[in-house]
Amino acid sequence: MNKYDIIIIGSGLGGLECGAILSKEGYHVCVLEKNERFGGCFQTYHRNGYRMDTGIHYVGSLDEGQIMNQYFRYFGIMDKLSLKRMDETVFDRIYYKDNIYDYAMGHERFIETLCRSFPHERGNLRHYVESLRSVGELISIDHLKKGRLSEEGMNFFSTSAAGMIASATANADLQNVLAATSLLYGGIKNKSTFYEHAMINHSYLEGAYRFAEGSMQVSQELIRVIRANGGTVLNKKEVSRILVKEEAIWGVEVNHEEVIESANVISGLHPQLTLSLLEKNHSIKPAFVSRIKSLENSYGIFTLHLMMKKDCCPYLNHNIYLHGNTDVWYDKTKHKAQTPSCMISMQVPRNGNRFTEVVSVLTPMYIDELNAWADTNPEHRGEAYRHFKAQKTEQILMFLKQYGFDWSHCTERMHTTTPLSYRDYTGTIDGSAYGIVKNYQYPQISFVSTRTKLKNLFLTGQNLNVHGALGVTLTAMLTCSEFVGQEYLAKKVGHA
Ligand SMILES: Cc1cc2nc3c(=O)[nH]c(=O)nc-3n(C[C@H](O)[C@H](O)[C@H](O)COP(=O)(O)OP(=O)(O)OC[C@H]3O[C@@H](n4cnc5c(N)ncnc54)[C@H](O)[C@@H]3O)c2cc1C
Repeated sequence: MNKYDIIIIGSGLGGLECGAILSKEGYHVCVLEKNERFGGCFQTYHRNGYRMDTGIHYVGSLDEGQIMNQYFRYFGIMDKLSLKRMDETVFDRIYYKDNIYDYAMGHERFIETLCRSFPHERGNLRHYVESLRSVGELISIDHLKKGRLSEEGMNFFSTSAAGMIASATANADLQNVLAATSLLYGGIKNKSTFYEHAMINHSYLEGAYRFAEGSMQVSQELIRVIRANGGTVLNKKEVSRILVKEEAIWGVEVNHEEVIESANVISGLHPQLTLSLLEKNHSIKPAFVSRIKSLENSYGIFTLHLMMKKDCCPYLNHNIYLHGNTDVWYDKTKHKAQTPSCMISMQVPRNGNRFTEVVSVLTPMYIDELNAWADTNPEHRGEAYRHFKAQKTEQILMFLKQYGFDWSHCTERMHTTTPLSYRDYTGTIDGSAYGIVKNYQYPQISFVSTRTKLKNLFLTGQNLNVHGALGVTLTAMLTCSEFVGQEYLAKKVGHA
């Protein structure tokens, strides 16, 4: 029987980063992944010879001297990644009320570009960008060098994203343009925090990149780091129980049969799932379990991947956000079963080609639209499910056509995924795209700590702080600080 210092459950970005940090620090780690393929949302897979990305379309703060670049440098993987910097003059293009607005990269360029459409809003835009910057700077490299991973940002957790935007400008159109990418954090108008809005938008505004050969490269490189440092990464190992004796974890049960011993466990799963795997104990109080169970999860995503004929669809080095309503925030009660908005992202072409092979169209969707198939497994959901997906596809294609996006002549095949796919594959509760909804009205309740009352159980991953590449990486650092100390780790990353 193996005995590890730390077992890490799940090989998503959070799990792999914890594995890389702690194996670099000499811990004997083992990462367990239930699926055949590693990476969770940081994974690519193939359909009919086309490459699909599971959950990454672009990543921010990757220019030299920026925080994500520094984290990847610390991991020793920055120079190994094949990246494509997005267009400086437009990395996100917004279609709203018959007009087009561009988000340009760099603080000044962002302000100047939007001033072309809103010439009287320069001062307000500057104030808005400064507010984004004050959140982005909470996790600056300077703080790392001084031994802090993040400065206190609780006031931003308790500030509404929509409210902060409204306080920056009274112009309703500009408010909507600034909130137009809220799909990136599962934005809900009366809940989303300015912290997540700013952390994500600021990072793209600083330096937005696509992974030229898919996000899987990050997972593969991190796995290499773990193995090079003596760590173990195993696939097809579903943790079916977390084993507890005398108020301490002593290992995990895998695939309902094998037991692997460990002195500590870090779970990269949704906290609700983690608690459901945990054997009976008295350390985790029923009040904590009820609180976690009561937390709302973000909406899921329906993704339509258009697989393009060779040399047919010109590549656009920016994303496109289409909004069909005057209010850009997704509203479950109004928009159920509709396509009110979507995001379009193109795959970077291979070998300098100027035509893309895959166009992905993402639209928000809650899992309850799929209740009829709640008890089914992937590949066995039946004809009615295929029909539902075909109808949804048709609805999305019609929506795209309204904006002049008709790629029917280039489309070879189509492939779709729903929140059910994420529920069953990456194991997210409710097929949610980004996990627990962070609610500015109850910040203390919706933010979950990396530490639990069971002294050797720790949490990581997108549900804790902010999701996405940046948020998950920051959380992995915070989780690992529980082992090696924050000052030590922050300085190590800051001076990498
Ligand atoms: C459609 C979509 C688009 C997105 N686009 C972007 C983007 O462009 N940029 C960005 O920064 N972020 C994006 N995100 C968010 C980002 O992908 C996630 O926040 C992040 O990758 C989550 O990482 P994680 O480690 O927390 O979890 P996950 O990636 O979900 O990893 C969890 C892992 O645990 C495994 N697992 C589950 N149960 C068990 C078990 N019992 N035993 C063992 N293993 C188990 C799963 O198989 C999975 O591999 C997107 C997300 C989605 C869904």
